[in-house]
Amino acid sequence: MKITYLGTAAAEGIPAVFCNCATCKEARKRGGRELRTRSQVLIDDSFCVDYPPEAYMHSVRFGVDLSAIEYLLVTHSHMDHFYAHDFILRGYKYAHDMTRPNLTICGNEEVKKVFEECTRREMREVVLQTIGFRELREYCPVLLGEYKVTPLPARHSVWENCFVYLIEKEGKKVLYLNDTGRLGAGVYEHLRYEKVDLVSFDCTFVGETVGEARHMGIGDCMAVKAELEKVQAVRPDTKYVVTHFSHNQAPLQETLEKIEKEYGVIAAYDGMSLEL
Ligand SMILES: [Zn+2]
Ligand SMILES: [Zn+2]
Ligand SMILES: [Zn+2]
Repeated sequence: MKITYLGTAAAEGIPAVFCNCATCKEARKRGGRELRTRSQVLIDDSFCVDYPPEAYMHSVRFGVDLSAIEYLLVTHSHMDHFYAHDFILRGYKYAHDMTRPNLTICGNEEVKKVFEECTRREMREVVLQTIGFRELREYCPVLLGEYKVTPLPARHSVWENCFVYLIEKEGKKVLYLNDTGRLGAGVYEHLRYEKVDLVSFDCTFVGETVGEARHMGIGDCMAVKAELEKVQAVRPDTKYVVTHFSHNQAPLQETLEKIEKEYGVIAAYDGMSLEL
């Protein structure tokens, strides 16, 4: 399984869209890895988690064939995770010779509503016919091609059932924890003995520990890691990645390198790939 982090920032990006704080100014000045777009992860070439406004830019920058994505798994309906307007362009005169003609978008009922709202004005019937929607329920695993996906409840919004996901293929397992605060007891119980290969943490608050919140900082990620260890959901060689950083906590390279050393995690950057 190959995992590519195409975007690694929280909703406003780094530098943030309208921001001139010291971190955003510094990120603009430095460029390179300090520039972070909204979160998206590509698995192999046909499976994707979330579709932010920069998905198109990711395809250009990293040479991703977006037409090859057969399954799009959406964590929740927030704008930085699901920019549905693009899908009106998936066919008709806008796209020729697509690698995989059909796309299945998977998510909760709010994601479905956002898809309908955002495409209502410009969607053509011929395009719509090639896009399916699969509504997911927590703790109910589904088979999506070669992938087995289990939606688990995130702690992120009172308005919708946001999901984090356990994603499996050919014996490799990824636990994708975006967007969420610390997880509930039921999630740990469900993950007992799973022994996942990679845990990808929401680390919006970077070096902080926030306790009860809709996102996590490194202290919270470590608390979740300890719970996962208790139920043997991880192994000694499990990889831990942190992502979805906010400009408010100054996640510049030197800060993240310190966190990597101190906590044994990998700080994701836009374009980072890992092979499991
Ligand atoms: Zn987010
Ligand atoms: Zn800023
Ligand atoms: Zn969110």
